[in-house]
Amino acid sequence: MVDIHLTNTRTRKKERFDPIDPGNIRVYACGPTVYDRAHLGNARPVVVFDVLFRLLRHVYGAGAVTYVRNFTDVDDKINARAAETGRAIRDITEETIGWYHDDMDALGALRPTQEPRATDYIPQMIAMIEGLIAKGFAYAAEGHVLFEVRKFDEYGKLSGRSLDDMIAGARVEVAPFKRDPMDFVLWKPSEGEQPGWASPWGRGRPGWHIECSAMSAELLGDVFDIHAGGIDLQFPHHENEIAQSRCAHGSKVMANYWLHNEMLQVEGKKMSKSLGNFFTVRDLLDQGIPGEVIRFVLLMTHYRKPMDWTAEKLREAEATLRKWHDMVACVEPAQFPAETVVRALSDDLNTAAALAAMHELARRGAASELAASAQLVGLLDVESADWIYSDVNASIDDEIEDLIENLLEERAAARSARNFERADAIRNGFEAAGVSLTDEADGTSWCPTPNFSPTKLREI
Ligand code: AMP
Ligand code: ZN
Repeated sequence: MVDIHLTNTRTRKKERFDPIDPGNIRVYACGPTVYDRAHLGNARPVVVFDVLFRLLRHVYGAGAVTYVRNFTDVDDKINARAAETGRAIRDITEETIGWYHDDMDALGALRPTQEPRATDYIPQMIAMIEGLIAKGFAYAAEGHVLFEVRKFDEYGKLSGRSLDDMIAGARVEVAPFKRDPMDFVLWKPSEGEQPGWASPWGRGRPGWHIECSAMSAELLGDVFDIHAGGIDLQFPHHENEIAQSRCAHGSKVMANYWLHNEMLQVEGKKMSKSLGNFFTVRDLLDQGIPGEVIRFVLLMTHYRKPMDWTAEKLREAEATLRKWHDMVACVEPAQFPAETVVRALSDDLNTAAALAAMHELARRGAASELAASAQLVGLLDVESADWIYSDVNASIDDEIEDLIENLLEERAAARSARNFERADAIRNGFEAAGVSLTDEADGTSWCPTPNFSPTKLREI
């Protein structure tokens, strides 16, 4: 079995991945808050952890990995969007989830095993909060429930901060009902139009962090293998998840391995609306940039390095993919991906090295190994490569199919009549027209490549 090594933020070491149960590897990633289109930065963790999911499935078996990614569908940003637009919250979250699926599907990301919505887990959150109060880790005050950070000795350990540093550095909300400025909200009261659920503390809604603790416990257990998310979530979100989960369950860890992707920038600058360099994934797809090309660019940088999105990389990715698609078009993928590619991915998801190994396969003309290796990272899927094949597919109508069948019959007849000149001319004509032929015992099969030209076919 392949050994996978991952950089574990929790221990600050690159460690061999040792699953709790190799028959059921359990991974949780923090998902989007659903009130708007996903931007390019949001796509980075999706693609990075999709590669992790694919690698784990490759190594342990497709049925042996449970990957959970949540939808945060209760949040003040969603409430604000509803108030601005006069739309129902449920309409906004449903529509945004639909967009998210469309956009992430376009990037070739597999759907996680489960995609729980926070609002479906309110009873579990309330139960967890009650447990935290009962154990003395949380307290109710003025309709709120707060987690008391001073009660959890290891608060700050993941991000390597002490409570005093946090207080000095953070713009924390100092509310009169907080025992400590760093205490964070588990539950808060809802008024009027605000979404709310009945609870022991009155009508209210959860704070953000508790949802991930409740959903991961429900779907993956009190302790699971890998928790993933962007580095911006390390503090306070992940710190708070750990505090809640460990105190609620009395466990030594929440997850054994914590993986954090670095941030994405655009042309060297933080992506922001005011700088005019803010793009959603949909913006790029609508400009005609194929999802596969976007995915390739995201894979060019190792996930633990900040990445810069540039027009130059986009061009390079597109040119490489076109070349590789030509190579693998009519090739049966090898049974296994190349060892060099698996090794690169197993070394802390080194996608940049995996792409370099694929370049080497292409250079050597190892097309079937390239095809199998590309599949492992979610690239070169001929079925979904519309940007390469839409013209080809559109030009193959009944007339062209008949023409091809007639030419193949003519070639077979020419060979039987030992007219090799004509038989070879037909074969060369197919090649020039971008159609690949394979002679088999019971006839000849054909396959169009991205260079397919109906005009040249007619000239044969
Ligand atoms: P949000 O909806 O803002 O909570 O973000 C969803 C996911 O996108 C989280 O895992 C964030 O860490 C990640 N994320 C947000 N902005 C960026 C960025 N610029 N680069 C990389 N990841 C990001
Ligand atoms: Zn989370």
